[in-house]
Amino acid sequence: MRDETIPTHCPYCALQCGMNLRGVRQPDAAGTAVEVVERPDFPVNRGALCGKGRTSPSLLSSRVRLTAPLIRSHATGRLEPATWEEALRTIADRLRRTREEHGADAVGVFGGGGLTNEKAYTLGKFARVVLGTSQIDYNGRFCMSSAAAAHGKAFGLDRGLPFPLEDIPRTGCVILVGSNLAETMPPALRYLTELKENGGKLIVIDPRRTKTAEQADLHLAPRPGTDLALALGLLHEVVAQGRTDEEFIATRTTGWADARAAAMAHWPELVERITGVGVPELREAVRLFCDAPSAMVLTARGPEQHSKGTDTVSAWINLCLATGRAGRPLSGYGCLTGQGNGQGGREHGQKADQLPGYRKLDDPAARAHVAEVWGVDPESLPGPGRSAYELLDALGGDVKSLLLMGSNPVVSAPRAAHIEGRLRSLDFLAVADVVLSETAALADVVLPVTQWAEESGTTTNLEGRVLLRRKAVDAPAGVHSDLQVLGALAGLLGHEKGFPADPEEVFEELRRASAGGLADYSGITYRRIAEEDGVFWPCPEKEGDPHPGTPRLFLDRFATPDGLARFVPVGHRPAAEEPDAEYPVLLTTGRVVAQYQSGAQTRRVDELNAAAPGPFVELHPQMAERLGVREGDPLAVVSRRGRATGPARITTGIRPDTVFMPFHWPGEGRVNTVTNPALDPTSRMPEFKVCAVRLEPADRG
Ligand code: SF4
Repeated sequence: MRDETIPTHCPYCALQCGMNLRGVRQPDAAGTAVEVVERPDFPVNRGALCGKGRTSPSLLSSRVRLTAPLIRSHATGRLEPATWEEALRTIADRLRRTREEHGADAVGVFGGGGLTNEKAYTLGKFARVVLGTSQIDYNGRFCMSSAAAAHGKAFGLDRGLPFPLEDIPRTGCVILVGSNLAETMPPALRYLTELKENGGKLIVIDPRRTKTAEQADLHLAPRPGTDLALALGLLHEVVAQGRTDEEFIATRTTGWADARAAAMAHWPELVERITGVGVPELREAVRLFCDAPSAMVLTARGPEQHSKGTDTVSAWINLCLATGRAGRPLSGYGCLTGQGNGQGGREHGQKADQLPGYRKLDDPAARAHVAEVWGVDPESLPGPGRSAYELLDALGGDVKSLLLMGSNPVVSAPRAAHIEGRLRSLDFLAVADVVLSETAALADVVLPVTQWAEESGTTTNLEGRVLLRRKAVDAPAGVHSDLQVLGALAGLLGHEKGFPADPEEVFEELRRASAGGLADYSGITYRRIAEEDGVFWPCPEKEGDPHPGTPRLFLDRFATPDGLARFVPVGHRPAAEEPDAEYPVLLTTGRVVAQYQSGAQTRRVDELNAAAPGPFVELHPQMAERLGVREGDPLAVVSRRGRATGPARITTGIRPDTVFMPFHWPGEGRVNTVTNPALDPTSRMPEFKVCAVRLEPADRG
């Protein structure tokens, strides 16, 4: 590492906190280690980091990271070290053979919301140009796809937050739905603290009294799976109290009559029966929201990870539109994206139905534009493929071989034991990863790839701010970057050109591919990002004065053809799986502060592992008493799909009809063995957040 301090960003969540990396010479001449130093000038986190960010360099020098390719031996059945040439040739040969024997769509590609923009872009191009397959999707489908779909329907454009985080403390009221910021993005909690210091009101909606809910002026704890009914009940009450903004509805929206009629079928007493939220609390929420001069609704995975996630988000957007809380300063609807590049990862073409620039794969003009940048015939580009769960479910069926980067579906996919079985049934699986994740452990070939501080690249945070991660340290010998891997494979498969390993060169092409699209990056350069602490898209390239970027969207018009926002009429429906006599309890899942996603990285960091060593089953004292469960008793949570175990954690901070488990662990404690893969019809989001279970002692089974 060079001597200077290098500004960069955290490798984990979508806040993309700024940090500085500095080299520290080791006393035993063992080289240079990297340490994190505060970066107080970066506006998003102003120097604050959570434990994950603080400890992020430890994986760089970890003994558990992969430093040589592995190939599964026919003789022993074990993964054995191999050369890069052997590994890449094996992958290229197997993918080619699959394609020749079964057709291009027999090869699948699975990406991740943690991949940089350059990697996501190249992976999508590689799938469509080199492999010619339509079968590509990524784990971001499990993250924010419902909010993205609803955003697109209402506003014609999906950017998680249409305003910067700095607007939050200056608004009058925030309804935070299904987000535990205090644990998922601790440095972001200050925006809510400052909101309250400024006199603003905070309403938190969550079936658990989380650390975030403890900050609220009003905490509503609906039954899991009923956020849609709650939003409709609030809208009903807004109408009943005459708190709609008729001028805004008339001049900036369309479709109100149908949405209003749908909401009026959800009167407060009915909503109380569905959600368990009392009518007085409902009315108090409406009062706080409507009395404020400006207001926001922010959702996260809580209301989104459902088989009706898109409609649920539409209901919250309808509430914003009916009250004139969108497309105006300090007001609006926003989604708090989760993964490190959850926003950018969905813009550049690794999604089953998209091309770079947030273009639709079935749009002839979009195909023509991107094909020209790629130097291929538009007719050669495959059409839309399967969504993430459907693709994983097809493995071993008509999808015979899979290339996977930046994801660990053995832990993170719903109905995970089934998906693990599908992965095992593949003819061929290649995985590129930093460590031997649970998914990599099933592979035929594993490629060791670089980590965030060992390469440059851009990410786009939850605000739509495009950021630059800088290379700070050389990767260990034997490790290659994902871009090098894709370039080498493309060459072996007959595409010598078009897949550079240099991230900035890829970004220059991405700029051209995105030009004119919804997510237009054409005016953004590495130099500008570095000079301006990030640039908000859309940022088209302009002659003369550079475009300043767009921190705030929709202030003059929405991104629909007529500039008007769309109300989407929606109605309540039950969860895909409701409790019954056999499975009488509701399960919801989530995160803890010391772990990240499937835990593939954070479970390998000693400090984080010590803080959160394993899963637990959170339940209310009433349920514990009924079942004779004491604190720490080993419990099994059992659904129609399987069981997951963990010690009981008894708390009054959860509804008496609900249990909670975090999802970061494999094995017996893997709660995604239990979760329901029922899909949202629009976004294809699985129903991670609610299913029916029973509890039993863990030693039975
Ligand atoms: Fe990293 Fe997110 Fe923690 Fe910030 S909040 S340090 S981006 S994990």
